[in-house]
Parts: sequence; structure tokens; C-alpha cells
Amino acid sequence: MARAAVLGRLSWLVARLADISDETATARTLILEVPGWPGHLPGQHIDVRLTAEDGYSTQRSYSIASAPAGSRLELTIQRLDDGEVSPYLAGVLSRGDPLELRGPVGGYFAWHPADPAPVLLIGGGSGVVPLMAMVRTRIASGSQAPMRLIYSTRSRDTLLYAAELERIAAGAIKVSSRDLGPAVARRAVGATTVAATMRAAGMAGIRFFATGGIGGVHRGHPDDQSADLVELGRTPVAVFCAGAKIILDLALTLERLESLSVPVLGYGCDELPAFYTSHSGCPVGARVDGPEETAAVLRAAWATGARGVVVAVPPPGELDGAEDMVERAVRDLAGVTGPELTPRLLARVAELSGGRSLDLNVDLVVNNARVAARVASCLAS
Ligand SMILES: Cc1cc2nc3c(=O)[nH]c(=O)nc-3n(C[C@H](O)[C@H](O)[C@H](O)COP(=O)(O)OP(=O)(O)OC[C@H]3O[C@@H](n4cnc5c(N)ncnc54)[C@H](O)[C@@H]3O)c2cc1C
Repeated sequence: MARAAVLGRLSWLVARLADISDETATARTLILEVPGWPGHLPGQHIDVRLTAEDGYSTQRSYSIASAPAGSRLELTIQRLDDGEVSPYLAGVLSRGDPLELRGPVGGYFAWHPADPAPVLLIGGGSGVVPLMAMVRTRIASGSQAPMRLIYSTRSRDTLLYAAELERIAAGAIKVSSRDLGPAVARRAVGATTVAATMRAAGMAGIRFFATGGIGGVHRGHPDDQSADLVELGRTPVAVFCAGAKIILDLALTLERLESLSVPVLGYGCDELPAFYTSHSGCPVGARVDGPEETAAVLRAAWATGARGVVVAVPPPGELDGAEDMVERAVRDLAGVTGPELTPRLLARVAELSGGRSLDLNVDLVVNNARVAARVASCLAS
């Protein structure tokens, strides 16, 4: 196998395009049949060579998107309109056409399915392609290695493998800080709450975390308090958020944070934002203006013994009628309690707003991440 792999890497093979699948308006997956393919590991790539009739020839590299599967290979090509090779591969190449390639190339960033160690995959744009090969190989091989994928794109329209990723993520269980032990021991796939993400960030020495909104004290159920609050009291991570979720009792949430000695900073604002709106009527502990001042306050807060810090960033838009929709959602779901309550309330608000709350949710998370990155870079410099 090793000898065959080396020979395969060195010699050009002629593949045939067996099928095409459109991923987005500007990207497509090529399914290739490659006679003589020596096999690959997820994370490896190939070189493609195009040769014109006059003999001009050019090469580009493309990651392998598929799990190892005999002589079949999948590549996902993002078309650059002014590029030389990608418009041909993602636009002109048709079923049955030949394509010259060699590989597999690159062994440093490959993943071995027999390795049980946890894997964190982080990628953006078409950089997700080799990571997808790892995700697919993990599923195909039955590996129990914990694997997380963090994937960013410029917009939802350019998200590759959207439906497949959603299907995979749907198998995830909700994991709060108290669930980490059982989830890790059972190697479960989990979607982490703010509390669990803070705990993991704290363990890794990461001090900045951006999210949509923190949990808190539930309206009409003052004993139902999110573990996010307790975690903020014990883990030294700054949480950038659009305040607490509007479905909560914000005044009681702030009181609880005060008891836990958690600083609540308003980023360019004096009121705690309420997720879908900048206005809650609840004053923050201190206002900070701009990344430099926020970094200075965080540094001083940590130097004087603070643990978690809330940096509340006003959302970049307003959801008109948010308060009325939330009141209606709270009434509609009066009988629901426990971990299901927050997701069900948010889903009901999404329904009542005709999806507008979801769009704002995405925008505010991106905005919070942007602010967190600016503050982190000021703190580091
Ligand atoms: C290991 C590896 C794996 C990869 N995997 C993938 C993958 O899975 N999917 C994928 O879509 N891509 C992948 N790529 C990128 C791919 O190799 C190509 O770079 C990409 O498809 C663009 O090629 P092109 O010929 O279309 O564009 P090019 O013609 O190479 O042009 C690229 C850009 O550079 C600009 N440009 C070109 N020449 C100049 C110049 N002289 N001065 C200034 N600007 C210039 C062009 O305008 C264009 O915007 C990978 C790259 C590597 C190295």
C-alpha cells in the first residue's frame, strides 16, 4: 500500500467525471472515477493539471472532500470568476470528461480514523473541504473520537454541505456544564451551552467567547436559573453577547449576576441589551466605549479577581414588536419547564416573527464575534 501510494502520488492519472452536484451558486462537487487510485487519508489533496490544445499547461491543488472509497474521489470547487482553472472545473467540465490528476499529496494535516484523540476542526470558505473529509471518514469508519467542526463563511448562501452538516448536527445532544462528564465519557456529540463552552474555553486558557445571548432567570419561574450564571461566577472568560435572551427576567438576571460578583459591561451602551432590542430599561454595571477601553477594563477586572465578565453589545438591528411576541410565546408555553424551555421559546418567537428573529440572531452573533476579536487583539497588543 505504501509503495502503491508513492507511485500514485508521482504519476499523473486520468480520472473521469462521473457526476456533478451543485453545492451553492458558485461551488460544485465533482465526483470522479480514478482508475489506479492508491487510496488516501482525509485531509490530503491532489494536484489537477489542465493542458490546452497548444500545449499550455497549468496545475492547481484541490482537497479531497470524500472519505476513502475505492477509486471514487470527490472534490468541491469554489469558482473564482476571474480565475484560470476554477471556472473550468466548476462550470465547463461535464459528465464523462477526462481530468488529469495526481495524489494523494500532503500527510501533515491528515486524520487517522484509528486515532481516538479528540479533534477540533476549524475552517472557513472552501477550507472546510478537507475537514468535511474527516467528518465523513469519522462517520464511515464508526470512530468514536470526539470531533467538533467550527466553520465560517461569508454568508449563508456560500455555506458548503449545509444540508449534510445540519443532519449531522441534529444528532447532537444539548450539553451544559454539568453534562460534560457524562458526554465526554460516552463520547457523545453535543451542542454546548454558554456554560459548557465557557468551561471548555477556560480549560483551554481561552479568555474570549462570543455568543448570541446568555441564559438567566426565567420569567415567572425565579428558581429556574441558567447554569450560565454560575459558570460566569467561576470561570475567567469574557462573554460577548447581546445581553441576556429577551425571554428571561432581565432585572432578576442582573441581580443574580451582581450576587455572583460578575461585572456586566455595556459596550457603548448604558442599558443591558435584550437580544432582539437594544432597550431593556435595565442599567448595566459599567459602560465601556471601544475595544481599547474594554480591553483595559477586562485586564483590570481580571487583575482584581473577577472571573467571568459579561460584555453586552447592542444588536445591530431591532426586531419590531419583540416584547409582545415574547409575552405571547411565554403564555403559549406556560406549561413547559427545564432544558427544553429556552429552545422552544426561541422557536416560537421565530414562528411569530416570520423568521425575522432568526436573521437578527445570525447578524448579532457575527457582530458580537467581530467586537470580541477587536477587544482580544487590543488586549494582546
Ligand atoms: C492544498 C490546497 C488545497 C486546496 N483545496 C481547494 C478546494 O478544496 N476547493 C477550492 O475551491 N480551492 C482549493 N484550493 C485553491 C485552488 O488550488 C485554486 O487556488 C483556486 O481554485 C483558484 O484557482 P484559479 O485558477 O481559478 O484562480 P487563479 O487564476 O489562480 O487566480 C486566483 C486569484 O488570484 C488572482 N490573481 C491571479 N494572478 C494574479 C496576479 N499575478 N496578481 C494578482 N492577483 C492575481 C486572480 O484574479 C484570482 O482572484 C486549494 C489550494 C491548496 C494549496
